[in-house]
Amino acid sequence: MSYSLLTETESFLKAPLKHFIAGQWTSSVASENFIDVIDPSSGQKLVSVVSGDSKDVDLAVGAADAAFQSWSEITADERAELLSKLANKLEEKLDVLAQLESLDVGKAIVNASGFDIPFGIECVRYYANLATQANYEHALEIDGMEARVHRAPYGVCGFIFPWNFPFDLLMWNIMPALAAGNTVVLKPAELTPLTSLYVCQLASEVGIPDGVINAVVGTGRAVGSAIVEHPKVRRMSFTGSSSVGKQIAAMCGERPIPCKIELGGKGAAVVFDDADINNAAEQLAGAITLNTGQVCCTATRWIIHEKVYEEFLSKVTSILKATQIGPGLAEETQMGPVVSQVQKDTVLGYLDKGLNDGATLLYQGDANVSGAYEKGFYVAPYLLGGSADNVCFKEEIFGPSAYLVKFSTEEEALSLVNSLDYGLANSVFSQDLTRCNRIAEKMISGNSWINAHNVFAYGLPYGGVNKSGLGGGVNSPETFYDYLRPLTVARPIA
Ligand code: NAD
Repeated sequence: MSYSLLTETESFLKAPLKHFIAGQWTSSVASENFIDVIDPSSGQKLVSVVSGDSKDVDLAVGAADAAFQSWSEITADERAELLSKLANKLEEKLDVLAQLESLDVGKAIVNASGFDIPFGIECVRYYANLATQANYEHALEIDGMEARVHRAPYGVCGFIFPWNFPFDLLMWNIMPALAAGNTVVLKPAELTPLTSLYVCQLASEVGIPDGVINAVVGTGRAVGSAIVEHPKVRRMSFTGSSSVGKQIAAMCGERPIPCKIELGGKGAAVVFDDADINNAAEQLAGAITLNTGQVCCTATRWIIHEKVYEEFLSKVTSILKATQIGPGLAEETQMGPVVSQVQKDTVLGYLDKGLNDGATLLYQGDANVSGAYEKGFYVAPYLLGGSADNVCFKEEIFGPSAYLVKFSTEEEALSLVNSLDYGLANSVFSQDLTRCNRIAEKMISGNSWINAHNVFAYGLPYGGVNKSGLGGGVNSPETFYDYLRPLTVARPIA
């Protein structure tokens, strides 16, 4: 059985996809290399996409540099109007975007059309609106001088993206930069370039000037590093693994240019004995099935009070058992495949590593999908438990799995949460809100959530600390101001 695609989705997937530079689909300058984009739900090729190198990056940065002056000199209201037109266009094409995102990542279509795409569109409007209200001049009260801080855009900003939330991460990162008057050169993940390229086309259709948004497709080594090293790129943003993020930050430090890195995580959830166990079980089962557990901030270390451990395990297990696994485009699918065979091998490899390291297998589901989709990259959810020394408690797996540990005291729970260098997001579940707030402040990360996990809104800053990130995070007014370069103007007065 196959799922019907909209005509526009089909036609977008027909031709080999190219870079989008200066408002045009552009072949690679030097190479004839292509990357196959695979549908994770079927394991079949969807389309080919060109694979570029530093020459294509040079072309794209040149286009972005040429577009910068006029884009930065139109008023914030004019930029906001163009971005609002883009938001309207994205809304009009929501179903195409949802299909492309679902096909590319293997994401359940209910999530793509009900959350990912609408939430990303909201981001465009959020920053368009902020741009019209922002404070670009700030007078300073200093004796003996007339002084102010003037905020201006940086110029060409570079962006490198991972494959798990291509559309939302694109919006969260490029929208504040564009709204502030910068131009953009972006590299989508080579596995999932579809919605990023489609957005470039739509931006051009609504009249965003040529060169303001450019996309170069290719590998991290050939294209990603060429963006970071290009002398005309004035600011970098990287979202991806901690290991690559450290290299990017070091490269930016050499130049030096400001750099925002949003990296991996190994989130913890602490469930106290007075928690609403139904809610905790629903939230945490959801945390590992949403996007098939390929969520940087999700909770994969479940630290459960010993008195409610069995009750929690039984409830969470029955929710996982009832979760419908299937092809991304099937309306009834709640959890699709993981993104690639490599990712499937990694996630199943961790199951073996965890067991070899002494873990107990608490639950493993069934992910058999038959027929046309049997070659998809499906992985059943699994739960391991035991000692916090286990590799599966310590390392990011990025799949539908969690590791359970029992605790008895608040101090013990906190010390387990804070035992790793990751610092992206944690949560605490209890009906005692005083305790929740106390623990929330003591968990070392960028985000602490109470009686819920994976909480997002525009205006709620989101970012990581330590091994999970550096440089300011996303989704808040601060993110917008990050893309404005502060310049002090001062005149001594007699
Ligand atoms: P990755 O680090 O392997 O790749 C991310 C991007 O970097 C890709 O576009 C890749 O081509 C590029 N890249 C790889 N090597 C490069 C190099 N040497 N120079 C320049 N670019 C290079 O990550 P991934 O596997 O695509 O994504 C999964 C990771 O992303 C997970 O660790 C996840 O936690 C993290 N992530 C973090 C956030 C966040 O907001 N903190 C959000 C989503 C994903």
